[in-house]
Amino acid sequence: MRMCERCARTQQTCCEKATVRLTHGDIERIGQYFPVPDFSQNADTSAWEADTADPLFSAAFVRRDCPVVRRTSRGCFFLSDNGCVLALGVRPLICRLYPMSYCERGLEGPIAPGNGYCPPPSGPEVLAELEMADQDQLRAWHRQLYEELRADYRGGCDDGPRRGRPRAA
Ligand code: SF4
Ligand code: SF4
Repeated sequence: MRMCERCARTQQTCCEKATVRLTHGDIERIGQYFPVPDFSQNADTSAWEADTADPLFSAAFVRRDCPVVRRTSRGCFFLSDNGCVLALGVRPLICRLYPMSYCERGLEGPIAPGNGYCPPPSGPEVLAELEMADQDQLRAWHRQLYEELRADYRGGCDDGPRRGRPRAA
């Protein structure tokens, strides 16, 4: 059983707590794969703080109409007893990269212990359990995330305050 599935079964998954921000690319991909109309909603970003180390992330995601995955009483809309119902290649890009930390310059490594919900992925076996052993794939997703953030930012999201950061808010 994968770690994420174990988490889901014991109801200790990050997916219960996270507010997952979506690029418009995410919304399009998920909509094709999982055609329900109401999986996303606009977030109240008033409490989000700017990440000065990653201005593009902040500028693109932190605005009054930032789309996020809708939450239900159990957490993320896509969370089932067996974990995420979305195939890995369809999940929001920030979910695919979690629990790595990163900024526009590149991947920085796993989040520090205590800074997130996920056990620190300290070795290759744990990374494999999380389907994160393929560094080329991670770099490709990271590139894709920032390309989509650039596209969203150009698309007119410069209309709100500059606040915010992690996947799990
Ligand atoms: S989209 Fe999937 S991986 Fe992301 S928080 Fe929701 S259930 Fe978890
Ligand atoms: S990413 Fe980590 S905390 Fe989240 S469900 Fe998977 S193992 Fe659990």
